[in-house]
Amino acid sequence: MKSVLISGGAGFIGSHLCDRLLLRTDVQKLVVVDNLWTGLFDNIAHIRDPRFHFVKSDVETLRSSEKFDEIYHLASPASPPWYMKEPKRTISANLLGALRLLELLKKGGRFGFTSTSEVYGDPLVSPQPESYKGQVDCTGPRSSYDESKRCTESLLFEMQRTEGLDLKVVRPFNIYGPRTRPDDGRAVSNFITQALAGRPITVFGDGKQSRSWGYVDDVVDGFARYFWINETDYKGPLNVGNDREISVLEVAQYVSKLVGGVPIVFEPSPPQDPTNRRPDLTNANYVMPEWSCKVSYEQGVAMTLDWFRERLTAGAAE
Ligand code: UDP
Repeated sequence: MKSVLISGGAGFIGSHLCDRLLLRTDVQKLVVVDNLWTGLFDNIAHIRDPRFHFVKSDVETLRSSEKFDEIYHLASPASPPWYMKEPKRTISANLLGALRLLELLKKGGRFGFTSTSEVYGDPLVSPQPESYKGQVDCTGPRSSYDESKRCTESLLFEMQRTEGLDLKVVRPFNIYGPRTRPDDGRAVSNFITQALAGRPITVFGDGKQSRSWGYVDDVVDGFARYFWINETDYKGPLNVGNDREISVLEVAQYVSKLVGGVPIVFEPSPPQDPTNRRPDLTNANYVMPEWSCKVSYEQGVAMTLDWFRERLTAGAAE
């Protein structure tokens, strides 16, 4: 039986991963550490399992003498406006958080880390394989996120090399879906909350920049398979995402159509906005051959819109 700790477990992705972890019969105890900075208690309020324990704390200063068999480190903001506002705190959550959590890992225990496709920066090759070293500006406005994820990867892979750490690192690509904060600030949730309020949809730049949008259920299924289901000899970081690349403008137009039409307005691009992003899934297909993204962006965005609509209706009725 395993004791498991997840940092950032009340967040958008973390809460979905908690639901997956609690499906495991070999998990005896699941401790969630979250400071509710970008996470929301609402995301885990439905969990009634006696194995589940919530600790409200910054991960880097977590007080605990307990050791765990498996630790998954997800605590970090992931939305550009949030991490750009508090860069020091972002670096601390990722890097110091990882250092603190490593102290709580049992000898021989497994450490999972959610890195990011942002390690590729504004990529010059497409699709991006894990071996692509990226194009990141270490003094740029996105660096607190990009570089703290990169440095945490360095820490963990060097521990794998020098101490044999049992390590699983995933690099997700633009995840969206239910449990995103309405004020998260990323594209899909912004477009949906704007459209549902009858406000214009804000497209930054000309909207020709592209992303590979991954529905949360598909991506978290990939995480679960790599973290604890599929055991292979693959030891590197793993791209997990949908490899269908769609422009921001196309997503905006689709959301507008779903609500019967709201205008699209163009606003200045955020600084150093990447022009493109698409995962090379060769390694993912090797590690988890039965995994694939099953939800198209058309279905996923429609389901996310329904979720936001229900949430707004429930909020209005309270
Ligand atoms: N974006 C946009 N309007 C918004 C929010 C984001 O046009 O209201 C654009 C943003 O400039 C970027 C893309 O959508 O080109 C994805 O942005 P997001 O913040 O979702 O993710 P990331 O930049 O981290 O890939």
